[in-house]
Amino acid sequence: MKIAFLGTGIMGAPMARHLAQAGHDVSVWNRSPEKARPLAEHGADVAGGPASAVDGAEVVVTMLTDGGAVEDVMREAAPAAAQGTVWWQASTVGIDGTEGLAALAEEHGLTFVDAPVLGTRGPAEGGELVVLASGPPDALERLAPLFDAVGSKTLELGEAGTGSRLKLVMNLWVVSVTDAIAETIAFAQGLDLDPHLFLDTIAGGSLDLGYAHFKGPGMIAGDLPVSFPLKHALKDADLILEAADRHAVELALARTVRERFAAAAQAGYGDADMGMVIEASRPRRDTSAG
Ligand code: NAP
Repeated sequence: MKIAFLGTGIMGAPMARHLAQAGHDVSVWNRSPEKARPLAEHGADVAGGPASAVDGAEVVVTMLTDGGAVEDVMREAAPAAAQGTVWWQASTVGIDGTEGLAALAEEHGLTFVDAPVLGTRGPAEGGELVVLASGPPDALERLAPLFDAVGSKTLELGEAGTGSRLKLVMNLWVVSVTDAIAETIAFAQGLDLDPHLFLDTIAGGSLDLGYAHFKGPGMIAGDLPVSFPLKHALKDADLILEAADRHAVELALARTVRERFAAAAQAGYGDADMGMVIEASRPRRDTSAG
């Protein structure tokens, strides 16, 4: 299949690579070209702009930061795409964002598929994402081999918009759990306990969570490779709260968690991994005394 892939950041680059390695004819574009160029080694064609990338494509994939970025890029690209081209929108853009992009697709005669993904850098590199696919059944059928190339599981969820709603539910869980792990470790440190005791104590019991062991040691060490930039977690917390307001659900925990991510971003951790939200809670030691 001839695919245009727009946005080759942490998630987009490995996804585009898997599509090229599966034998598809992939044209990639990224605003900062140095992130797209290495994909040429895997057989992708590196385009000079979004419009030239989508020219002649049967499928366009967007994997960009947020709804605004996707809209800007697709306003440039869409006029160059043929009527009926399938647009797989994979970025996390929330409910309002998805509605706006679906309208943009309609304006340009594109078939809109709302299919955000679950999983982070490691699963993206390994082709083990979970695809939350929603859109017209015939378009989902055409995209099935593409979903299989980037993921280990695809959930077919119904009409476009459903994937993005489930994505927000999943990300509420992700940001809440991340902050809970961070605060628990910071609390242990504040009480002069070795925070590894927390991880050792939950291990194998009903309160255990693989994610705590995945993120916890790096949070304790203050050294985490960037899998999910903290600024994107803050963006997702805002999308969750916007959706909660729209649907009249009170998410008191999410409001607090959002403030923790905002504080960490304010402290300079926006480009760090979201696990660095722990820095907003680390015990404040008075180093001036003695
Ligand atoms: P990333 O590495 O920061 O990549 C973001 C991409 O968007 C880059 O290609 C960036 O281009 C581009 N971009 C941002 N603003 C733009 C604009 N105004 N115009 C053109 N391009 C723009 O982020 P990521 O982790 O791959 O995330 C991409 C999407 O996937 C986000 O919606 C995120 O929430 C979602 N997601 C992420 C994860 C994860 O664990 N990382 C998991 C699931 C879903 P430059 O390279 O030029 O900056």
